Amino acid sequence: MVETDRDALAASHLAANWAQVQQRVADACHAAGRDPAEVNILPVSKTFGPDVVRAAMGLGLRRFGENKVQEIRDKSRVLADSGIDWVMIGHLQTNKAKEVARLASEVQSLDRPELAVALDHRLRLEGRRMNALVQVKTSTEPSKYGLPPEQLPAFLDALRAYDTLRVRGLMTLAINSPTPEAVRGCFRLLRELRDQAVARGHELPCLSMGMSGDFPLAIAEGATEVRIGTAIFGVRPYPDAYYWPEK
Ligand SMILES: *Cc1c(COP(=O)(O)O)cnc(C)c1O
Repeated sequence: MVETDRDALAASHLAANWAQVQQRVADACHAAGRDPAEVNILPVSKTFGPDVVRAAMGLGLRRFGENKVQEIRDKSRVLADSGIDWVMIGHLQTNKAKEVARLASEVQSLDRPELAVALDHRLRLEGRRMNALVQVKTSTEPSKYGLPPEQLPAFLDALRAYDTLRVRGLMTLAINSPTPEAVRGCFRLLRELRDQAVARGHELPCLSMGMSGDFPLAIAEGATEVRIGTAIFGVRPYPDAYYWPEK
């Protein structure tokens, strides 16, 4: 097969997957009595190269989730000036705040005070602001990052001091479990924490929760954004332990 045929085939697979994911999200919204316009899909392009991201841009996608700063750096270099909004969704080491402040438009893994300090410092130097979601640990699994729920009120209050960070909501990863009620419980907890914070005067319109394997449950619990990798781009060449290493 010549290269252009292979590219065309890959692009048509991507288009079919994208159409199917949009339909499944719409179905989940209808089942939950929600308007599909309330739920955004964040395509997660981690491990896929700039060519795949470019093909996804051909479908009108402009915002991509990435799990590692290095991948944002490498892809944004090749795709410079293409108007992509990179969204950092993976665990962020404080010493990588500089690059995220420079290259990303949003961070969804803000989970500790030191990271807020580091991002604020770097954003000031860059003269930039960015959207931020606070990642909350709703699962009992030891390998999941995120702020413990009981620390959320104080953290949200402290974040008011940083006008470089536009805090828009909360993000979580549910427990990896075959029991839907256990998974759904994580999503429900995030929604309840959001509702409690809103009652305390915080403005948190965004709930980023749900991935390829569990997004209908997240939508049923009020997700406004689902982060979808595999169902759009296909199976990744690395196991998930690579992205969610033990602390
Ligand atoms: C990889 C990843 C996703 C997407 O996972 P899929 O199961 O491939 O849809 C969502 N959120 C985070 C934080 C991720 O690292």
